[in-house]
Amino acid sequence: TPERSFESNPTVCPFCGVGCQIEYAGRGSATGVEGPVNERGEICPKGAAAFDVVDNDDRLTEPLVRHDGHFVTAPWEEALDRVASGIGRVVDEHGPDAVQFFASSNCTNEENYVLQKLARVLGTNNVDNCARLCHASTVAAMSERFGAGAMTNTLDDLSETDCILVNGANPAEQHPVAFRSYVLPAVRDGATLVHVDPRANDTTEAADVHLPLRPGTDIEVANAIAAVLVEEDLVDEAFLAERTTGFDRLREHLADVDVAANAEAAGVEPAAIREAARAYGEADRAAIVTGMGTSQHRCGTDNVHALLNLALLTGNIGRPGTGVNPLRGQNNVQGASDVGGLPGVLPGYEPVTDAAARERVAAEWGVEPPAEPGLTEVEATHRFGDEVRAAVVFGENPAVTEPNATAVASAFEELDFCVVIDLFETATAAHADVVLPGSAWAEKSGTVTNTDRRVMRMRPNADLPGNARCDFEILADLGRRLTDRPEAFDYDGPEAAFDELTRVAAIYEGMSYEGIGDGYQRWPFSERDGTGTDVLHAETFATGERTAPLAVVDPVPPADDLGADELTLTTGRVLQHFNSGALSRRSERLTAMRGEDVLQIHPDDAAERGINDGDRVTVSNERGTVEVAADVTPAVREGVAFCTFHYPEPLANALTGDALDPEAKIPEFKHSAVAVEPT
Ligand code: SF4
Repeated sequence: TPERSFESNPTVCPFCGVGCQIEYAGRGSATGVEGPVNERGEICPKGAAAFDVVDNDDRLTEPLVRHDGHFVTAPWEEALDRVASGIGRVVDEHGPDAVQFFASSNCTNEENYVLQKLARVLGTNNVDNCARLCHASTVAAMSERFGAGAMTNTLDDLSETDCILVNGANPAEQHPVAFRSYVLPAVRDGATLVHVDPRANDTTEAADVHLPLRPGTDIEVANAIAAVLVEEDLVDEAFLAERTTGFDRLREHLADVDVAANAEAAGVEPAAIREAARAYGEADRAAIVTGMGTSQHRCGTDNVHALLNLALLTGNIGRPGTGVNPLRGQNNVQGASDVGGLPGVLPGYEPVTDAAARERVAAEWGVEPPAEPGLTEVEATHRFGDEVRAAVVFGENPAVTEPNATAVASAFEELDFCVVIDLFETATAAHADVVLPGSAWAEKSGTVTNTDRRVMRMRPNADLPGNARCDFEILADLGRRLTDRPEAFDYDGPEAAFDELTRVAAIYEGMSYEGIGDGYQRWPFSERDGTGTDVLHAETFATGERTAPLAVVDPVPPADDLGADELTLTTGRVLQHFNSGALSRRSERLTAMRGEDVLQIHPDDAAERGINDGDRVTVSNERGTVEVAADVTPAVREGVAFCTFHYPEPLANALTGDALDPEAKIPEFKHSAVAVEPT
């Protein structure tokens, strides 16, 4: 709008975990600036359109409070008083554990730090972020085996490798600058790219080997690859003897794995499994890149354990060009977790059950956090209206992004009180009592932590629209109003909160805004390493200080039984859009590139059902029914249908199931039984 002012100031793109630096370039567009990751200023179409969200006519510019069932605008004081009384009443009547806090993987470290502090000072560990929905299982498995759940190596390190095994990810579309800057150069230099994915997509085009597995058979594939590694003597005997435990047991288990039978169960060629195993096992340096195709299963943690075996069997950990690298989807999903936006850990991943860790935090906050882990996101929505009576939703849209979304939307109606802080009247905001207009990515100061553990600065490129406020100020204000320690939320801006974070979270210790400057500092940080630690576990594995256990992993069937006429629906993302689409669908240029969703279906499955390309089809199961146009294509394997979760119509998550991984509590987004028929 004409009255808003914009300026060019290097900041971080909001639309994926790569962390490209961009700035305002005039005429509503962003341009890339040379940054730590996008070294030549490269950006993708989403990055170029990032200001469409900022300068959008739909932005909330005044607080909204519900009055007689409808929203009316209200002054900030009145809206914040409503929040204080609404949450206060629930805490008084049911205790602090009756409140669930949704942190935001798309907001800054400082904002998430203050939000989780607010929850814990209030007296609950019920705080979670959408890392729960994407890589909770990866973090659980990697933390158990290696002691940390983040990328072991770096994005630039991928260009140094001889083999990249991409399991359940599509970085060509989801992390495009990283793919083009680091993966493709490695491939051009002769690295072998193995792609394990039910769909052929842009990543597959660059691959040497494609394993189009049936969704839900990751363990069968990883175990078969492991069996070939052992059978063909492609393991690193010295590493196994000195740096691992449990090899004899795993070898015994793998001796019973029939590669051909596993290949048949997964619907892939045994020869392709052997080819993948040889490429990975014979490489001097082999890296695993993993995504939500691996993690979003009710056995997601086991899927990752099976993958980690491959790295350990071949000694591909703790060295440049190797490792296991989960790619993060949002610009601060790593940071939101690092700073304590999780129910079981304090800032820096110290368990809430650790008394010494709680005391360290108490020394800074003046109050000790509770010792019992809180509820995860999906668990909490299952208890809305029961033991959970209120929700504080910061920058997330769970009514669209949670599995079994129609049930989740109804559950929001069971709450006594709900406040949403967001840019737009989202599907979740429709269930709120109060909606507070927050700040977009380009209107804030702070830091974010990208997928390879780099902490980078966010800087304002625009002023705020109307009476919208900075998220950091809103959260600090809520801290002062909702808790009995208002002084704990008296910050002189985000930098003061960051400094506090560096005193509370050991992995951020020593970092500073000044030290980050226009570049980055990477955790775990130590000034000795300059910008921080690039390759995790390098010293511990090299010196033998650490040994990692190998895991025996058996296949786990998906939660949904597949009826004879049913297909497996698997969901994912595309290049042009971002998560629930609440942001990216407001960009005219992105919707011009992809305006509607389609259901990819294999030609044989389409023919069996009398479906032609472009026909409207009805997709249904016990959880919901949606309609969508069919895209009949051999890119998706037989028996599988694919659509995104970027759209309200079709609302893909109306069909996804909420069976949870028992350890990580991540839902099974990647395998839902559905009937597909012409509409
Ligand atoms: Fe933004 Fe990711 Fe595209 Fe870079 S690759 S411009 S961070 S969406």
